[in-house]
Amino acid sequence: MKPFVFSRSTYSFLLFVLAPFALIQAQQPGVHGNKFEQLGTMLPPGNTYRSQDGSPGPEYWQQRADYDIDCTLDTENLRLNGEESITYYNQSPNTLRYLWLQLDENQHSAKNNNQYFDPNSIDPVMSAADLRALESAKEVADYGIEILEVKGENDEPLRHFIDATIMRVELPEPLAPGQKFTFKVKWFYNIVDRVKLIETLKVFANYPRGGYEYFPEDGNYLFTITQWYPRMCVYSDFEGWQTNQFTGQAEFALNFGNFLVKMTLPDDYMVGATGECLNYPVVLSSTQLERWEQAQTATEPVEIVTLAEAKALEQKENSTATKTWIYRAENVRDFAWTASRKFVWDAMPHITEAGKRVMCMSYYGKEAYPIYNRYSTKAVAQTLRTYSRYSIPYPYPSAISVEAANGMEYPMICFNPGRAEKDGTYTPQAKHSAISVIIHEVGHNYFPMIINSDERQWTWMDEGLNSFVQYLTEMEFDNNYPSGFGATSTITDYMALPKEYLEPLMTNGENLIDFGSNAYTKTAAGLNILRETIMGRERFDYAYREYCRRWAFKHPTPADFFRSMEDAGGMDLDWFWRGWFYSTDATDISLDSIQWYKVDLETNPRREEHTMTQKVEEPFLDITRRRNRASDMEFTVEQDEELQDFYTNYKPWETVDSVQETTTYLYDQTFTEAEKEERYGGKNYYQLFFSNKGGLVMPVIIEWTFEDGTTEIERIPVQIWRKNEEAFSRVFVKDKVATAIRIDPFKETADIDESNNNWPVREMPSRFQVFKAHKMKEKLNPMQRAKKDGKVIKP
Ligand SMILES: [Zn+2]
Repeated sequence: MKPFVFSRSTYSFLLFVLAPFALIQAQQPGVHGNKFEQLGTMLPPGNTYRSQDGSPGPEYWQQRADYDIDCTLDTENLRLNGEESITYYNQSPNTLRYLWLQLDENQHSAKNNNQYFDPNSIDPVMSAADLRALESAKEVADYGIEILEVKGENDEPLRHFIDATIMRVELPEPLAPGQKFTFKVKWFYNIVDRVKLIETLKVFANYPRGGYEYFPEDGNYLFTITQWYPRMCVYSDFEGWQTNQFTGQAEFALNFGNFLVKMTLPDDYMVGATGECLNYPVVLSSTQLERWEQAQTATEPVEIVTLAEAKALEQKENSTATKTWIYRAENVRDFAWTASRKFVWDAMPHITEAGKRVMCMSYYGKEAYPIYNRYSTKAVAQTLRTYSRYSIPYPYPSAISVEAANGMEYPMICFNPGRAEKDGTYTPQAKHSAISVIIHEVGHNYFPMIINSDERQWTWMDEGLNSFVQYLTEMEFDNNYPSGFGATSTITDYMALPKEYLEPLMTNGENLIDFGSNAYTKTAAGLNILRETIMGRERFDYAYREYCRRWAFKHPTPADFFRSMEDAGGMDLDWFWRGWFYSTDATDISLDSIQWYKVDLETNPRREEHTMTQKVEEPFLDITRRRNRASDMEFTVEQDEELQDFYTNYKPWETVDSVQETTTYLYDQTFTEAEKEERYGGKNYYQLFFSNKGGLVMPVIIEWTFEDGTTEIERIPVQIWRKNEEAFSRVFVKDKVATAIRIDPFKETADIDESNNNWPVREMPSRFQVFKAHKMKEKLNPMQRAKKDGKVIKP
């Protein structure tokens, strides 16, 4: 239905004539927001450290910190004493005069308290726990890290300053680029009762990540020692020192480095930790060592400590003798460990694509045995298999899941829930939360332990990306797995909330009202939409892997992720980042109405003659022409007479041509009834009217149901909204008669209101007339007319 266009004015005239059947869209004024504009200055410009394509630049640098830690776990007094030597490598182009460290244990300190509590109030009825929460700072008075010494290499004291969870150490000499500095810190802290604190403190921000759990029935402890030693803050090209306080919510920014850690504790404790144990022959019994050797080639988990042995040990008197476990970990950003007399320990290998052996292991008490013995180590192996395929092959020698009734991740070791009932049965929730959290926390080895974003700044970059691959892993583990992330149905309720309850994903983790829905669920669902609906699996998976490859063991920022996905995916996604990551808009695409047309087979449009006249005015002499003429410019046509013809000095405004006339015979050529029947008789034209009620632009997926019961899916790319972000109509031509139309039938786009997605088709079609073509009246051109008038035309 393209009009025969020969001039602008004729075009609008024809449109006017044809309006009822022409593309309405062409007539609508554009309704532009900026949903399709490039992110531009919203992203930092590329530089030599971070390239515009999202990859690390030619001068990319990052700092490194190596740790040598000696510590003693005092299980009598529930205290951890430690001494560490930190070697800090200044690989930046800047000279440093001070260093910043993180003292996360001060999260619980009364004197160095940093808890930015959320607002609270007194209600007409208060529980004891509610009231305790109002006083939480007092309850934790004895906690926090005590820094005993900060010394240089020659034992000279270093000036330092502590502000809640951060400590500045002044360097005795400026640390030039390329230099390293070794210093020592001596400290201790009282270990918190992790479970009691959780019960006491309702505020999530105060949630303890590590501590002990006491089991009154058997009188044993389970220690999870995390965020325990003073750790270097990150100094980076994009923000200098990251000195945001740790409040318990947004996690950490950490450097890569090597660790040598010696842990001394009673010799009846079993230890699991980041890295590889260097002295198993010393700390394990000969039977345990033999089983450890067996586990290296096992195809099912091998129990290195059995349930019977663990049960027997937890009943024994506590030993007073001690043992020292020595662990080494290379190129990790942190070190955590666990210790208990309650542990069953099992292990089996995962072999990487490169043929490297990774020991998948689990540590758990009898309480978790029914679930963990069956699922934990295999869930660890499943995680490594799937994550390795969607990101990079797992680079570390081990991956450990510890049952500690919580969920928290560290390199090569993580803590997860999953206890059974006393009779050995368990609920489906206990089973699935165990498997999901194990996959999630082991998955954190990738995001952010290896692909090492700044968690304290951008929670979505680790929690969201990780929750997304967790979903892919669960989907691969069991097609019927009840996943909490990934599917768009997990996020629609959140995105439908009033705007005052929502923040964009590009919000600091501390400032979120609903941390989980925002950083975890919305990111995972968004990436799933990108993968399944916008980019397609092949394109998405390639780009996601490329992002992971580029930024493994480095510090990516959001721009590096956005750019890598676009660059390796070969697709402009700025509109998606802008909508899903920078706004609180939701998808709500409404199918407002449908018009069904068929061709009028009987009548043809009546032939009409249309004449248009246009006066030709003498053109205005614009500034460029005036100045060129005034200058000494030599005009080619004036220099070369050969180029001069009838039109060179033709001035229509001075001739009869000053009024130009064009005549069109509208609907000049038409079809016979038989021709029409053959061409158009069976065709149905459906004009669908859509509007954007939620703000987000999204592809439109349409499901057609036809009279004969068949269905068809049609996918309209998101660019349909480019010229009008609020509404569009589009015509679909179908050989079959449609009985119903539904949009987003697979719930791919997180549409928050599906009540406007369905539409039955009207019973009777409207009819429109067709014709073959218009025709222009042929006329003499000015040259022909001059000839006819007897004028001599230059040959
Ligand atoms: Zn997480």
